[in-house]
Amino acid sequence: MTCILCDVADGTESAEIIYDDPECLAITPLRVMAPTHVLVFPRAHYDGLPYFLEREVESAGRSAHAAGSGDCRTARIK
Ligand SMILES: [Zn+2]
Repeated sequence: MTCILCDVADGTESAEIIYDDPECLAITPLRVMAPTHVLVFPRAHYDGLPYFLEREVESAGRSAHAAGSGDCRTARIK
């Protein structure tokens, strides 16, 4: 199954990526609602949060923290 987040993860869809690691990505949402608004999601497709693997939950926490603190490993705009 694929979705827009899968497309961002594999580079098919454009996004402003503000954090990137082997488990998760953090991007700027299309409709930013606050200066600290980021969208964090795993690279693998899931139909809901309960299906995330433990390492992806941990990575999502690191991603959100890094994105919020400005400690981003990579940044790119397609
Ligand atoms: Zn997906």
